[in-house]
Amino acid sequence: MLKNHKYQHALCLYPYYAGDKGTGVDFFPPTGLEYVATALKGHVGQISLIDLRYKQSLQSPKNMIEFISNNIDLVCISIAWRSQYEKVCTYINQLPTGRTIVVGGREATDQVEDIFKRCPNVDVVVRGEGEHTIQELADGLPWEQITGLSYRSNAAIIHNPNRPLQPIENIEPPDRSLRQDSYFPVIHGKRILAVEFDTILGSRGCPYKCKFCTFSMNPLGQKRDYVARSPESVVDEIQASKAKMIIFADDNFFVNSQRAERICDLIIERGIKKLYFANARIEVSKHPQLLEKAYRAGFRVMLMGIESASDRILEQLHKGFNTKQIRDAFTVFRKFPFFYHAYFIYGNIGETEEEMMAIPKFARELGVHMINLSKLRLDKFTPLRELVESTPGYWISKKGNVYSKEYDRERLRKIRKRIRNDFFFRPLQFFRIFNTVHKGGLLTYWDMFKVSCAAFLLLLDYSFQSICKSCRHLLAVKKTE
Ligand code: SF4
Repeated sequence: MLKNHKYQHALCLYPYYAGDKGTGVDFFPPTGLEYVATALKGHVGQISLIDLRYKQSLQSPKNMIEFISNNIDLVCISIAWRSQYEKVCTYINQLPTGRTIVVGGREATDQVEDIFKRCPNVDVVVRGEGEHTIQELADGLPWEQITGLSYRSNAAIIHNPNRPLQPIENIEPPDRSLRQDSYFPVIHGKRILAVEFDTILGSRGCPYKCKFCTFSMNPLGQKRDYVARSPESVVDEIQASKAKMIIFADDNFFVNSQRAERICDLIIERGIKKLYFANARIEVSKHPQLLEKAYRAGFRVMLMGIESASDRILEQLHKGFNTKQIRDAFTVFRKFPFFYHAYFIYGNIGETEEEMMAIPKFARELGVHMINLSKLRLDKFTPLRELVESTPGYWISKKGNVYSKEYDRERLRKIRKRIRNDFFFRPLQFFRIFNTVHKGGLLTYWDMFKVSCAAFLLLLDYSFQSICKSCRHLLAVKKTE
Protein backbone atom coordinates (compact mmCIF):
# COMPACT_ATOMS: atom_id res chain seq x y z
CA MET A 1 0.00 0.00 0.00
CA LEU A 2 1.49 3.34 -1.05
CA LYS A 3 0.78 5.87 1.67
CA ASN A 4 2.00 9.05 0.02
CA HIS A 5 -0.89 9.15 -2.47
CA LYS A 6 -4.32 10.42 -1.63
CA TYR A 7 -5.82 7.69 -3.84
CA GLN A 8 -4.38 4.18 -3.83
CA HIS A 9 -6.18 2.68 -6.81
CA ALA A 10 -7.86 4.56 -9.66
CA LEU A 11 -10.26 2.93 -12.09
CA CYS A 12 -10.39 4.60 -15.52
CA LEU A 13 -13.57 3.29 -17.09
CA TYR A 14 -14.85 3.42 -20.67
CA PRO A 15 -18.49 2.61 -19.97
CA TYR A 16 -19.85 2.00 -23.50
CA TYR A 17 -20.85 -1.49 -24.51
CA ALA A 18 -23.70 -3.17 -26.34
CA GLY A 19 -23.57 -6.81 -25.25
CA ASP A 20 -22.74 -9.55 -27.76
CA LYS A 21 -23.94 -7.52 -30.75
CA GLY A 22 -21.42 -4.74 -30.24
CA THR A 23 -22.16 -1.14 -31.03
CA GLY A 24 -22.01 -1.41 -34.82
CA VAL A 25 -18.69 -0.34 -36.28
CA ASP A 26 -16.89 0.70 -33.13
CA PHE A 27 -13.46 -0.65 -32.41
CA PHE A 28 -11.29 2.34 -31.68
CA PRO A 29 -9.29 2.55 -28.46
CA PRO A 30 -10.70 5.06 -25.94
CA THR A 31 -7.90 7.53 -26.65
CA GLY A 32 -9.21 10.39 -24.48
CA LEU A 33 -9.51 8.11 -21.45
CA GLU A 34 -6.06 6.66 -22.13
CA TYR A 35 -4.63 10.19 -21.99
CA VAL A 36 -6.29 10.69 -18.59
CA ALA A 37 -5.10 7.30 -17.27
CA THR A 38 -1.54 8.14 -18.37
CA ALA A 39 -1.76 11.55 -16.71
CA LEU A 40 -2.59 9.79 -13.43
CA LYS A 41 0.69 7.86 -13.42
CA GLY A 42 2.72 8.87 -10.37
CA HIS A 43 -0.30 10.66 -8.88
CA VAL A 44 -2.14 7.54 -7.63
CA GLY A 45 -0.86 4.21 -6.30
CA GLN A 46 -2.26 1.98 -9.05
CA ILE A 47 -4.33 2.39 -12.23
CA SER A 48 -6.83 -0.03 -13.80
CA LEU A 49 -7.91 0.97 -17.28
CA ILE A 50 -11.07 -0.91 -18.20
CA ASP A 51 -12.89 -0.83 -21.53
CA LEU A 52 -16.32 -2.36 -20.89
CA ARG A 53 -16.64 -3.47 -24.52
CA TYR A 54 -14.01 -6.07 -23.72
CA LYS A 55 -14.83 -6.88 -20.07
CA GLN A 56 -18.12 -8.69 -20.32
CA SER A 57 -18.02 -9.85 -16.71
CA LEU A 58 -17.98 -6.23 -15.50
CA GLN A 59 -20.85 -5.14 -17.77
CA SER A 60 -23.07 -6.38 -14.99
CA PRO A 61 -23.29 -3.51 -12.47
CA LYS A 62 -23.38 -6.11 -9.67
CA ASN A 63 -19.89 -7.36 -10.58
CA MET A 64 -18.61 -3.84 -11.10
CA ILE A 65 -19.93 -2.81 -7.67
CA GLU A 66 -18.03 -5.72 -6.13
CA PHE A 67 -14.84 -4.88 -8.04
CA ILE A 68 -15.00 -1.22 -7.03
CA SER A 69 -15.95 -1.96 -3.42
CA ASN A 70 -12.97 -4.30 -3.00
CA ASN A 71 -10.33 -2.34 -4.85
CA ILE A 72 -11.03 1.21 -5.95
CA ASP A 73 -11.03 4.60 -4.23
CA LEU A 74 -11.10 6.86 -7.34
CA VAL A 75 -13.37 6.19 -10.33
CA CYS A 76 -12.78 8.21 -13.52
CA ILE A 77 -15.40 7.64 -16.22
CA SER A 78 -15.36 8.89 -19.79
CA ILE A 79 -18.69 10.10 -21.20
CA ALA A 80 -17.58 11.00 -24.66
CA TRP A 81 -20.58 10.33 -26.91
CA ARG A 82 -24.20 11.42 -27.17
CA SER A 83 -25.18 7.94 -28.27
CA GLN A 84 -25.97 5.65 -25.29
CA TYR A 85 -25.81 8.65 -22.94
CA GLU A 86 -28.90 7.62 -20.96
CA LYS A 87 -27.72 4.02 -20.72
CA VAL A 88 -24.29 5.09 -19.46
CA CYS A 89 -25.86 7.37 -16.82
CA THR A 90 -28.05 4.49 -15.62
CA TYR A 91 -24.97 2.29 -15.32
CA ILE A 92 -23.03 4.95 -13.39
CA ASN A 93 -26.00 5.51 -11.12
CA GLN A 94 -25.63 2.00 -9.79
CA LEU A 95 -21.97 2.35 -8.77
CA PRO A 96 -21.24 2.48 -5.06
CA THR A 97 -20.85 5.75 -3.18
CA GLY A 98 -18.10 6.23 -0.61
CA ARG A 99 -15.30 6.70 -3.16
CA THR A 100 -14.71 9.68 -5.43
CA ILE A 101 -16.58 9.33 -8.72
CA VAL A 102 -15.39 11.67 -11.46
CA VAL A 103 -16.78 11.88 -14.98
CA GLY A 104 -15.28 13.75 -17.91
CA GLY A 105 -15.23 13.82 -21.69
CA ARG A 106 -16.95 15.72 -24.46
CA GLU A 107 -20.54 14.81 -23.67
CA ALA A 108 -19.97 15.14 -19.90
CA THR A 109 -18.78 18.71 -20.48
CA ASP A 110 -21.93 19.47 -22.49
CA GLN A 111 -24.24 17.88 -19.90
CA VAL A 112 -22.70 18.89 -16.56
CA GLU A 113 -25.94 19.86 -14.80
CA ASP A 114 -27.86 16.93 -16.23
CA ILE A 115 -25.24 14.42 -15.06
CA PHE A 116 -25.36 15.73 -11.49
CA LYS A 117 -29.16 15.45 -11.66
CA ARG A 118 -29.25 11.93 -13.12
CA CYS A 119 -26.37 10.50 -11.07
CA PRO A 120 -26.48 11.53 -7.41
CA ASN A 121 -23.35 9.45 -6.76
CA VAL A 122 -21.17 11.53 -9.13
CA ASP A 123 -18.99 13.91 -7.09
CA VAL A 124 -17.12 15.74 -9.81
CA VAL A 125 -17.35 16.58 -13.50
CA VAL A 126 -14.09 17.51 -15.25
CA ARG A 127 -14.87 19.98 -18.03
CA GLY A 128 -12.81 20.28 -21.22
CA GLU A 129 -9.36 18.72 -21.60
CA GLY A 130 -8.85 16.80 -18.38
CA GLU A 131 -5.23 15.68 -18.05
CA HIS A 132 -4.03 18.40 -15.66
CA THR A 133 -7.33 18.76 -13.83
CA ILE A 134 -7.32 15.07 -12.87
CA GLN A 135 -3.71 15.27 -11.70
CA GLU A 136 -4.53 18.12 -9.31
CA LEU A 137 -7.58 16.29 -8.04
CA ALA A 138 -5.54 13.10 -7.45
CA ASP A 139 -2.85 15.13 -5.67
CA GLY A 140 -5.48 16.27 -3.18
CA LEU A 141 -5.67 19.95 -4.10
CA PRO A 142 -8.85 21.42 -2.57
CA TRP A 143 -11.58 21.21 -5.20
CA GLU A 144 -12.37 24.90 -5.00
CA GLN A 145 -8.85 25.61 -6.27
CA ILE A 146 -8.97 23.35 -9.32
CA THR A 147 -9.90 25.08 -12.57
CA GLY A 148 -12.04 23.15 -15.05
CA LEU A 149 -13.91 21.36 -12.25
CA SER A 150 -17.61 21.25 -11.34
CA TYR A 151 -18.42 19.57 -8.03
CA ARG A 152 -21.04 19.04 -5.38
CA SER A 153 -20.81 21.03 -2.21
CA ASN A 154 -23.63 20.14 0.17
CA ALA A 155 -26.76 20.64 -1.93
CA ALA A 156 -25.14 23.04 -4.39
CA ILE A 157 -23.22 22.47 -7.61
CA ILE A 158 -20.13 24.65 -7.86
CA HIS A 159 -18.60 25.43 -11.26
CA ASN A 160 -14.99 26.59 -11.06
CA PRO A 161 -13.61 28.79 -13.87
CA ASN A 162 -12.57 27.13 -17.13
CA ARG A 163 -9.04 25.79 -17.37
CA PRO A 164 -6.91 27.48 -20.05
CA LEU A 165 -5.83 25.00 -22.74
CA GLN A 166 -2.43 23.48 -21.97
CA PRO A 167 0.60 23.46 -24.29
CA ILE A 168 0.69 20.13 -26.11
CA GLU A 169 4.27 19.38 -24.96
CA ASN A 170 2.94 19.25 -21.39
CA ILE A 171 0.56 16.40 -22.24
CA GLU A 172 2.08 12.93 -22.18
CA PRO A 173 0.95 10.54 -24.96
CA PRO A 174 -0.94 7.43 -23.84
CA ASP A 175 1.02 4.68 -22.12
CA ARG A 176 -0.15 1.56 -23.95
CA SER A 177 1.14 -0.72 -21.21
CA LEU A 178 -1.95 0.36 -19.24
CA ARG A 179 -4.18 -1.27 -21.86
CA GLN A 180 -5.79 -4.58 -21.03
CA ASP A 181 -7.05 -5.09 -24.58
CA SER A 182 -5.88 -5.02 -28.16
CA TYR A 183 -8.05 -3.38 -30.80
CA PHE A 184 -9.12 -5.15 -33.98
CA PRO A 185 -11.74 -4.23 -36.59
CA VAL A 186 -15.07 -5.36 -35.24
CA ILE A 187 -18.55 -5.15 -36.76
CA HIS A 188 -21.46 -5.81 -34.42
CA GLY A 189 -19.25 -7.46 -31.85
CA LYS A 190 -17.53 -9.86 -34.30
CA ARG A 191 -13.85 -9.49 -35.12
CA ILE A 192 -13.63 -9.37 -38.91
CA LEU A 193 -9.89 -8.93 -39.42
CA ALA A 194 -6.79 -10.04 -37.54
CA VAL A 195 -5.03 -6.70 -38.05
CA GLU A 196 -4.47 -4.69 -34.90
CA PHE A 197 -5.55 -1.02 -35.00
CA ASP A 198 -4.39 1.95 -32.99
CA THR A 199 -5.07 5.69 -32.90
CA ILE A 200 -2.42 8.35 -32.48
CA LEU A 201 -2.95 12.02 -31.82
CA GLY A 202 -0.07 14.00 -33.27
CA SER A 203 -1.65 17.44 -33.00
CA ARG A 204 -4.67 19.19 -31.52
CA GLY A 205 -6.77 21.96 -33.03
CA CYS A 206 -7.13 23.18 -36.57
CA PRO A 207 -6.35 26.57 -38.13
CA TYR A 208 -9.50 26.58 -40.31
CA LYS A 209 -12.87 27.96 -39.31
CA CYS A 210 -15.60 25.86 -40.94
CA LYS A 211 -18.87 27.06 -39.46
CA PHE A 212 -20.42 23.64 -38.86
CA CYS A 213 -17.41 22.30 -37.00
CA THR A 214 -16.57 22.04 -33.33
CA PHE A 215 -13.72 19.53 -33.75
CA SER A 216 -11.13 22.16 -33.13
CA MET A 217 -13.02 23.54 -30.14
CA ASN A 218 -13.52 21.87 -26.84
CA PRO A 219 -17.14 21.59 -25.67
CA LEU A 220 -16.70 24.80 -23.68
CA GLY A 221 -16.35 26.69 -26.92
CA GLN A 222 -12.63 27.22 -26.33
CA LYS A 223 -10.97 27.24 -29.74
CA ARG A 224 -7.85 25.08 -29.74
CA ASP A 225 -5.12 26.83 -31.73
CA TYR A 226 -3.33 24.35 -33.92
CA VAL A 227 -0.53 22.82 -31.86
CA ALA A 228 1.57 19.89 -32.99
CA ARG A 229 3.88 17.43 -31.31
CA SER A 230 7.40 17.07 -32.65
CA PRO A 231 7.74 14.61 -35.58
CA GLU A 232 10.19 12.55 -33.48
CA SER A 233 7.73 12.05 -30.62
CA VAL A 234 4.95 11.08 -33.05
CA VAL A 235 7.16 8.51 -34.80
CA ASP A 236 8.39 7.17 -31.42
CA GLU A 237 4.77 6.55 -30.51
CA ILE A 238 4.08 4.84 -33.85
CA GLN A 239 7.11 2.63 -33.33
CA ALA A 240 6.08 1.72 -29.77
CA SER A 241 2.59 0.63 -30.86
CA LYS A 242 2.10 -3.06 -31.71
CA ALA A 243 -0.61 -2.18 -34.21
CA LYS A 244 -0.09 -2.60 -37.94
CA MET A 245 -2.70 0.00 -38.87
CA ILE A 246 -2.63 3.47 -37.37
CA ILE A 247 -5.37 6.06 -37.59
CA PHE A 248 -4.22 9.59 -36.95
CA ALA A 249 -6.86 11.30 -34.85
CA ASP A 250 -5.54 14.77 -35.83
CA ASP A 251 -8.22 17.03 -37.31
CA ASN A 252 -5.95 17.60 -40.29
CA PHE A 253 -2.67 15.70 -40.40
CA PHE A 254 -1.17 17.80 -43.20
CA VAL A 255 -1.58 21.35 -41.81
CA ASN A 256 2.16 21.87 -41.73
CA SER A 257 3.56 20.23 -44.87
CA GLN A 258 7.19 20.34 -43.68
CA ARG A 259 6.32 18.64 -40.42
CA ALA A 260 4.21 16.02 -42.22
CA GLU A 261 7.11 15.37 -44.60
CA ARG A 262 9.53 14.99 -41.69
CA ILE A 263 7.22 12.38 -40.12
CA CYS A 264 7.19 10.47 -43.43
CA ASP A 265 10.99 10.73 -43.67
CA LEU A 266 11.43 9.36 -40.16
CA ILE A 267 9.03 6.47 -40.82
CA ILE A 268 10.98 5.58 -43.99
CA GLU A 269 14.42 6.02 -42.34
CA ARG A 270 13.51 3.82 -39.39
CA GLY A 271 12.05 1.15 -41.68
CA ILE A 272 8.66 1.11 -39.91
CA LYS A 273 6.21 -1.05 -41.87
CA LYS A 274 2.69 0.03 -40.99
CA LEU A 275 -0.30 1.48 -42.81
CA TYR A 276 -1.84 4.84 -41.95
CA PHE A 277 -5.20 6.60 -42.23
CA ALA A 278 -5.23 10.41 -41.93
CA ASN A 279 -7.63 13.34 -42.12
CA ALA A 280 -6.61 15.77 -44.84
CA ARG A 281 -7.85 18.88 -46.62
CA ILE A 282 -7.61 19.48 -50.34
CA GLU A 283 -4.76 21.99 -49.80
CA VAL A 284 -2.33 19.07 -49.47
CA SER A 285 -2.67 18.64 -53.26
CA LYS A 286 -0.27 21.63 -53.57
CA HIS A 287 2.51 19.36 -52.28
CA PRO A 288 2.78 16.40 -54.67
CA GLN A 289 6.24 15.50 -53.32
CA LEU A 290 4.67 15.12 -49.87
CA LEU A 291 1.88 12.93 -51.27
CA GLU A 292 4.45 10.72 -53.00
CA LYS A 293 6.49 10.40 -49.79
CA ALA A 294 3.37 9.77 -47.68
CA TYR A 295 2.42 6.84 -49.93
CA ARG A 296 5.94 5.43 -49.64
CA ALA A 297 5.81 5.77 -45.85
CA GLY A 298 2.61 3.69 -45.75
CA PHE A 299 -0.20 6.28 -45.83
CA ARG A 300 -3.08 4.64 -47.63
CA VAL A 301 -6.39 6.24 -46.68
CA MET A 302 -7.16 9.95 -46.96
CA LEU A 303 -10.24 11.06 -45.09
CA MET A 304 -11.47 14.33 -46.57
CA GLY A 305 -14.23 16.75 -45.68
CA ILE A 306 -15.59 17.86 -49.06
CA GLU A 307 -19.00 18.65 -47.54
CA SER A 308 -20.97 19.79 -50.60
CA ALA A 309 -21.23 19.84 -54.38
CA SER A 310 -22.65 23.37 -54.26
CA ASP A 311 -20.57 26.56 -54.13
CA ARG A 312 -23.38 28.35 -52.33
CA ILE A 313 -23.36 25.78 -49.52
CA LEU A 314 -19.56 25.64 -49.33
CA GLU A 315 -19.61 29.41 -48.91
CA GLN A 316 -22.31 29.18 -46.24
CA LEU A 317 -20.23 26.61 -44.34
CA HIS A 318 -17.09 28.78 -44.62
CA LYS A 319 -15.28 25.73 -45.90
CA GLY A 320 -12.54 27.83 -47.43
CA PHE A 321 -12.70 26.34 -50.93
CA ASN A 322 -15.13 26.01 -53.82
CA THR A 323 -16.02 23.23 -56.27
CA LYS A 324 -13.46 24.39 -58.84
CA GLN A 325 -10.70 24.20 -56.28
CA ILE A 326 -11.93 20.74 -55.25
CA ARG A 327 -11.87 19.59 -58.88
CA ASP A 328 -8.35 21.00 -59.39
CA ALA A 329 -7.13 19.28 -56.22
CA PHE A 330 -8.51 15.91 -57.32
CA THR A 331 -6.75 16.23 -60.66
CA VAL A 332 -3.58 15.93 -58.55
CA PHE A 333 -4.97 13.36 -56.08
CA ARG A 334 -5.95 10.95 -58.87
CA LYS A 335 -2.25 10.56 -59.69
CA PHE A 336 -1.69 8.95 -56.28
CA PRO A 337 -3.28 5.61 -55.46
CA PHE A 338 -4.65 6.54 -52.04
CA PHE A 339 -8.08 5.40 -50.97
CA TYR A 340 -10.13 8.63 -50.85
CA HIS A 341 -12.96 8.69 -48.34
CA ALA A 342 -15.02 11.86 -48.66
CA TYR A 343 -17.40 13.33 -46.09
CA PHE A 344 -20.50 15.22 -47.23
CA ILE A 345 -23.17 17.11 -45.28
CA TYR A 346 -26.75 17.15 -46.52
CA GLY A 347 -29.80 19.07 -45.29
CA ASN A 348 -27.94 22.38 -45.08
CA ILE A 349 -29.79 25.66 -44.62
CA GLY A 350 -31.72 26.46 -47.79
CA GLU A 351 -30.27 23.43 -49.59
CA THR A 352 -32.58 22.02 -52.24
CA GLU A 353 -33.09 18.35 -53.04
CA GLU A 354 -31.41 18.94 -56.38
CA GLU A 355 -28.30 20.31 -54.65
CA MET A 356 -28.19 17.31 -52.32
CA MET A 357 -28.67 14.88 -55.20
CA ALA A 358 -25.67 16.45 -56.97
CA ILE A 359 -23.38 14.80 -54.39
CA PRO A 360 -23.06 11.30 -55.94
CA LYS A 361 -22.28 12.60 -59.44
CA PHE A 362 -19.75 15.09 -58.08
CA ALA A 363 -18.08 12.44 -55.89
CA ARG A 364 -17.79 10.04 -58.84
CA GLU A 365 -16.37 12.79 -61.02
CA LEU A 366 -13.70 13.49 -58.40
CA GLY A 367 -12.83 9.81 -58.21
CA VAL A 368 -13.43 9.24 -54.51
CA HIS A 369 -13.85 5.64 -53.43
CA MET A 370 -16.25 6.00 -50.56
CA ILE A 371 -18.60 8.70 -49.32
CA ASN A 372 -19.88 9.34 -45.85
CA LEU A 373 -23.15 11.27 -45.50
CA SER A 374 -24.00 13.28 -42.39
CA LYS A 375 -27.07 15.32 -41.63
CA LEU A 376 -26.30 18.87 -40.60
CA ARG A 377 -25.75 18.63 -36.84
CA LEU A 378 -24.95 21.24 -34.23
CA ASP A 379 -23.35 21.20 -30.80
CA LYS A 380 -23.80 23.91 -28.19
CA PHE A 381 -21.01 26.09 -29.56
CA THR A 382 -21.19 25.34 -33.29
CA PRO A 383 -20.77 28.72 -35.05
CA LEU A 384 -23.56 27.88 -37.53
CA ARG A 385 -26.13 27.76 -34.71
CA GLU A 386 -26.96 31.45 -35.05
CA LEU A 387 -27.85 31.08 -38.73
CA VAL A 388 -30.03 28.02 -38.07
CA GLU A 389 -31.84 29.71 -35.20
CA SER A 390 -32.50 32.82 -37.21
CA THR A 391 -33.76 31.01 -40.33
CA PRO A 392 -37.56 30.64 -40.32
CA GLY A 393 -38.82 27.08 -40.68
CA TYR A 394 -35.66 25.41 -39.33
CA TRP A 395 -35.24 23.79 -35.94
CA ILE A 396 -32.66 21.79 -34.00
CA SER A 397 -33.66 18.43 -32.54
CA LYS A 398 -32.66 17.23 -29.06
CA LYS A 399 -29.81 15.29 -30.62
CA GLY A 400 -28.60 18.42 -32.41
CA ASN A 401 -29.83 17.46 -35.91
CA VAL A 402 -31.17 20.26 -38.08
CA TYR A 403 -34.56 19.83 -39.76
CA SER A 404 -36.99 22.09 -41.56
CA LYS A 405 -40.65 22.03 -42.53
CA GLU A 406 -39.70 21.08 -46.06
CA TYR A 407 -36.87 18.72 -45.15
CA ASP A 408 -38.00 16.79 -42.11
CA ARG A 409 -36.40 13.62 -40.79
CA GLU A 410 -38.28 11.29 -43.11
CA ARG A 411 -37.61 13.25 -46.29
CA LEU A 412 -33.91 13.59 -45.45
CA ARG A 413 -33.74 9.85 -44.75
CA LYS A 414 -35.10 9.10 -48.22
CA ILE A 415 -32.74 11.57 -49.87
CA ARG A 416 -29.80 10.04 -48.02
CA LYS A 417 -30.75 6.59 -49.26
CA ARG A 418 -30.99 7.83 -52.85
CA ILE A 419 -27.60 9.56 -52.66
CA ARG A 420 -26.00 6.43 -51.21
CA ASN A 421 -27.56 4.09 -53.77
CA ASP A 422 -26.70 6.38 -56.67
CA PHE A 423 -23.06 6.50 -55.57
CA PHE A 424 -22.40 2.91 -54.50
CA PHE A 425 -24.52 0.63 -56.60
CA ARG A 426 -22.44 0.79 -59.73
CA PRO A 427 -20.19 -2.09 -60.73
CA LEU A 428 -17.29 0.22 -61.53
CA GLN A 429 -17.41 1.74 -58.07
CA PHE A 430 -17.02 -1.65 -56.38
CA PHE A 431 -14.17 -2.52 -58.72
CA ARG A 432 -12.35 0.76 -57.91
CA ILE A 433 -12.75 0.17 -54.18
CA PHE A 434 -11.44 -3.40 -54.32
CA ASN A 435 -8.62 -2.53 -56.67
CA THR A 436 -7.26 0.34 -54.54
CA VAL A 437 -7.70 -1.52 -51.27
CA HIS A 438 -5.91 -4.59 -52.62
CA LYS A 439 -3.08 -2.75 -54.38
CA GLY A 440 -2.47 -0.61 -51.29
CA GLY A 441 -1.95 -3.75 -49.19
CA LEU A 442 -4.84 -2.75 -46.94
CA LEU A 443 -6.67 -6.05 -47.33
CA THR A 444 -6.14 -9.41 -49.00
CA TYR A 445 -8.88 -10.81 -51.27
CA TRP A 446 -9.93 -13.13 -48.45
CA ASP A 447 -10.15 -10.15 -46.04
CA MET A 448 -12.17 -8.23 -48.62
CA PHE A 449 -14.54 -11.16 -48.94
CA LYS A 450 -15.03 -11.21 -45.14
CA VAL A 451 -15.51 -7.45 -44.94
CA SER A 452 -17.99 -7.54 -47.84
CA CYS A 453 -19.98 -10.28 -46.09
CA ALA A 454 -19.98 -8.31 -42.84
CA ALA A 455 -21.03 -5.14 -44.67
CA PHE A 456 -23.75 -7.06 -46.50
CA LEU A 457 -25.07 -8.50 -43.22
CA LEU A 458 -24.96 -5.02 -41.69
CA LEU A 459 -26.97 -3.69 -44.63
CA LEU A 460 -29.40 -6.60 -44.32
CA ASP A 461 -29.76 -5.98 -40.60
CA TYR A 462 -30.29 -2.29 -41.30
CA SER A 463 -32.90 -3.03 -43.97
CA PHE A 464 -34.56 -5.57 -41.68
CA GLN A 465 -34.74 -2.98 -38.91
CA SER A 466 -36.20 -0.46 -41.38
CA ILE A 467 -38.82 -3.02 -42.46
CA CYS A 468 -39.65 -3.74 -38.80
CA LYS A 469 -39.82 -0.02 -38.13
CA SER A 470 -42.19 0.47 -41.07
CA CYS A 471 -44.35 -2.45 -39.88
CA ARG A 472 -44.43 -1.06 -36.36
CA HIS A 473 -45.37 2.31 -37.80
CA LEU A 474 -48.14 0.77 -39.92
CA LEU A 475 -49.48 -1.18 -36.93
CA ALA A 476 -49.42 1.97 -34.79
CA VAL A 477 -51.35 3.82 -37.50
CA LYS A 478 -53.85 0.94 -37.74
CA LYS A 479 -54.36 0.98 -33.97
CA THR A 480 -55.12 4.67 -33.90
CA GLU A 481 -57.48 4.48 -36.89
S1 SF4 B 1 -14.06 20.78 -40.56
FE1 SF4 B 1 -11.95 20.11 -40.58
S2 SF4 B 1 -10.86 21.76 -41.62
FE2 SF4 B 1 -12.82 22.61 -40.99
S3 SF4 B 1 -12.40 23.55 -38.98
FE3 SF4 B 1 -13.15 21.47 -38.64
S4 SF4 B 1 -11.32 20.23 -38.43
FE4 SF4 B 1 -10.72 22.15 -39.41
